Amino acid sequence: MSTVKSVAVGVELAARGTTVALIDRHGTILHRLSARTLMGRPAIATIEPSLRAIETMLSYAHAGGYKVRGLGICVPGSLDTERHRPLLVPTLPSLNDFPLCDFLEARYTLPVRLHVDVDAALLGEHRFGAGKGCNRLLFLTLNAVVGASLVIDGQLECTAQQYVGHISHMLVASNGPRCSCGRHGCINTLVSLEAMQKMVQRALRRGEQTSLTQRLLNREYFSPQLLAEEAERGDSVSLQVYGEVGRWLGVATTRYIDLFEPHRLILGGDALSSNDLILNHVRRILTTHSSSHVCTLIDVVPARLGSDASVVGSVVSLL
Ligand SMILES: [Zn+2]
Repeated sequence: MSTVKSVAVGVELAARGTTVALIDRHGTILHRLSARTLMGRPAIATIEPSLRAIETMLSYAHAGGYKVRGLGICVPGSLDTERHRPLLVPTLPSLNDFPLCDFLEARYTLPVRLHVDVDAALLGEHRFGAGKGCNRLLFLTLNAVVGASLVIDGQLECTAQQYVGHISHMLVASNGPRCSCGRHGCINTLVSLEAMQKMVQRALRRGEQTSLTQRLLNREYFSPQLLAEEAERGDSVSLQVYGEVGRWLGVATTRYIDLFEPHRLILGGDALSSNDLILNHVRRILTTHSSSHVCTLIDVVPARLGSDASVVGSVVSLL
């Protein structure tokens, strides 16, 4: 007697490349492939290597006796949910308005689900990671910019397609820097990679010594990870930047909590989840500076699925 093993194929499309993963009902990645994304070409040419990887994965699943329930895709950007396609993917603009779901469904005769990467990551954490068993969850992630997502009553809170009203564009400081959405002082502008770089530059202009200088002179790229490593070694400038980022995140978190009353806050992305610095800042602000009783009750926890959260989360509704 043969046992059918249900799986789905998760696909995370990004400018740095595509991850294609075969995922089982427990959220375990059984097999993984990478593909390039070819930027500056029409949509189908951009994803052509990813399509070949999907086909290789489907053959692998077939040979292994797996039953593929569908494809879950995630992209970094915003979606046209009515028309099942990416709306605005700044790093892969040829996908803007490309009928991605229709195209893939026709090609593979499988159900296709499309998510924004940060929403997919939260779905992954909710089902298999740090959000398990919690029905009101807020997820904040920091890579180049802040991403935010919300699960209420176990369902992803559908965000507006426009920037305004999207929770990653929450207004934190009305006199803050100008954001891509046109307003000033969105959370994105205060704790982004660019904002952190500017904090470092200001410290350098003040003549402060930092071990970051040596690493940047060694042609390393400035990244949240690099900053996290130096902060952990006790570099004072990195710690200052962490302090400021933590403070803004704390302010934003307090507002999110007042609005949405989540029971748990998950911090994701390497800079937020790989050490306790930010976590402790945010916890301290919530317990000491907040007037809201709700804020003192919330759990603040690091993400558990790491960089696999999005690809795993993109298939949860298929399994
Ligand atoms: Zn904004």
